[in-house]
Amino acid sequence: MTTSESEARPVPITVALERVGAQAEGADFGGAFPFLDEAQIEKLRRYGSEETVEPGVVLFREGERGSDFIVFLTGSVEAIAHYGDSAEMVSTMFNPGQFVGVMNILSNEGAYVTATATVASRVLRVPLDQLRAVIGEDITLSEVVIRAFLLRHSLLMRLGTGPKVIGSRYNEATKKILDLLAGNRVAVTWIDVESDPRAETLLRGFGFTVADIPVVMVAGQPILRNPSLTEIAAVFGLRDEAPQREEVCDLLVVGAGPAGLAASVYGGSEGLSTMVVEAIAVGGQAGTSSRIENYLGFPAGLSGAELAARAALQAQKFSAAILVGSSAKTLTSTGGVHSVELSDGRILRARSIVVATGARYRRLVVDGLDRLEGSGVYYAATEVEAQKCRGAVAVVGGGNSAGQAAIFLTRKGLEVHHLIRGKSLDATMSRYLIDQIERDPRITVHVATQVKSLSGTNSLESLSLETAEGKRETLGVCGLFSFIGAEPNTDWLGRCLQVDEDGFILTGADIGATGGWTPLLLETSLPGVFAVGDVRHGSIKRVATAVGEGAMVVRLIHERLASPPPIR
Ligand SMILES: Cc1cc2nc3c(=O)[nH]c(=O)nc-3n(C[C@H](O)[C@H](O)[C@H](O)COP(=O)(O)OP(=O)(O)OC[C@H]3O[C@@H](n4cnc5c(N)ncnc54)[C@H](O)[C@@H]3O)c2cc1C
Repeated sequence: MTTSESEARPVPITVALERVGAQAEGADFGGAFPFLDEAQIEKLRRYGSEETVEPGVVLFREGERGSDFIVFLTGSVEAIAHYGDSAEMVSTMFNPGQFVGVMNILSNEGAYVTATATVASRVLRVPLDQLRAVIGEDITLSEVVIRAFLLRHSLLMRLGTGPKVIGSRYNEATKKILDLLAGNRVAVTWIDVESDPRAETLLRGFGFTVADIPVVMVAGQPILRNPSLTEIAAVFGLRDEAPQREEVCDLLVVGAGPAGLAASVYGGSEGLSTMVVEAIAVGGQAGTSSRIENYLGFPAGLSGAELAARAALQAQKFSAAILVGSSAKTLTSTGGVHSVELSDGRILRARSIVVATGARYRRLVVDGLDRLEGSGVYYAATEVEAQKCRGAVAVVGGGNSAGQAAIFLTRKGLEVHHLIRGKSLDATMSRYLIDQIERDPRITVHVATQVKSLSGTNSLESLSLETAEGKRETLGVCGLFSFIGAEPNTDWLGRCLQVDEDGFILTGADIGATGGWTPLLLETSLPGVFAVGDVRHGSIKRVATAVGEGAMVVRLIHERLASPPPIR
């Protein structure tokens, strides 16, 4: 740190938040700094140990790893972090009943703050593995702690505290790093060399030039120049240790979306040595959803980030190793042992594989899409999306899923404009759906029509359409339901598994008996290799079904491991 930084006087977090235009919601920032009650502290006492600290004692420093979870019993502690301009400091006071930490405690990433006792204080220290255990056991305590960690994370993001990534918005490597960190809920400050004057000062200060970007600075770690995603994942504590090359685990799961996470939780809990490889972020597509409203047991909905964080903890509780930042590149099988080569060059070997690499929804290539996804642009038509719409909506796509969506939406009282590029629905949609659409006066089919752009301030308000003759029209709608297909993430498999015409993996009865063995339900054309979730042919693209398949597949793996087909 420079002299000017160390001399900077910290400002209280309320002041810092106001400076960046964010408001604290009430004294505990909407749950970010809660007070534990006596019963909760009592429970934690069983997992940790108490100690007295003198004024001025540093409990942990910015950048330090492996810090305990600390609850304050008496006295007070000040936590200080850099924010915004790196010379600025923000301070938060912790009082009896409160605890320190953000999500990075659980991932064993370096601390973002330095915590110092301001008066003689009594603290309760709970080691990380014990914290994981208690979170896994006590749902109320886990709610309070994980919610606080996630909220603090978003406050830190607003303040621009924690590690820094210096890069360019036009640089692909910078974008990949930022996506990896954002997807894994890591708070970083992005300093764009294209627009932020701090970039040049910082680069020059450390003897770098623009040719070195992206540059990643994490307190307590060497500065990284144009690092690989694997290096980033290691520095930020996003990955567990991979086993030695010669080790063969029972189950290797590729992809840590809901399907892969469920397979790892059930695999680990049912005694299989389990490993998970994830290219980008734990949680998959579901992790990007701001609110999953239809997942059983959560009547108020839950955020994808929360689901992902909880599921990852659960998988680790059952000893599944999660390797984030490595993509699977190839799959080969010899003598009943499967090998997956990773993007970082390593080869992982396993007796069974679960392919859970999901699918990408095809997205319309139109102006305004990025901004309005989730605020008027939807990829599913369920009660949840329908409730957000009033009046007219548009459905795009000529397949059965688009037809079903159009009919469903009119039943919810909405006027539907069905937009297709072709001249009729005949070639792409089943006759029974076409009949219903033609009979329904609330559905208008616009043939040979394409969406050109989307408009709306906070949510979708209108579409600009273009016909095959080049005629332009504006259509006022509050919802755009896009059903233009999905592409499976199966490129990495080459042609080693049987797939359908769109590349989705065939399993079970869709393959039938081949060469003296019959694939089990969810088993692919390669014995011992299974496919679950969105990547599977015929899957229902929902979080709950992905989780269900991930849970179910472990039972089938046991069956396959117990009776492998004859090796030919
Ligand atoms: C914005 C949004 C909102 C949604 N909301 C809902 C909702 O409210 N309710 C609902 O039921 N469904 C919802 N869905 C659908 C739901 O998220 C998916 O059906 C579900 O996530 C599928 O789970 P999955 O595990 O099969 O695949 P995914 O979630 O797609 O996960 C696949 C994972 O595999 C990883 N991967 C891919 N290739 C590789 C490779 N080569 N090596 C390593 N890893 C790889 C990916 O990075 C990804 O993390 C939503 C989807 C989106 C996009």
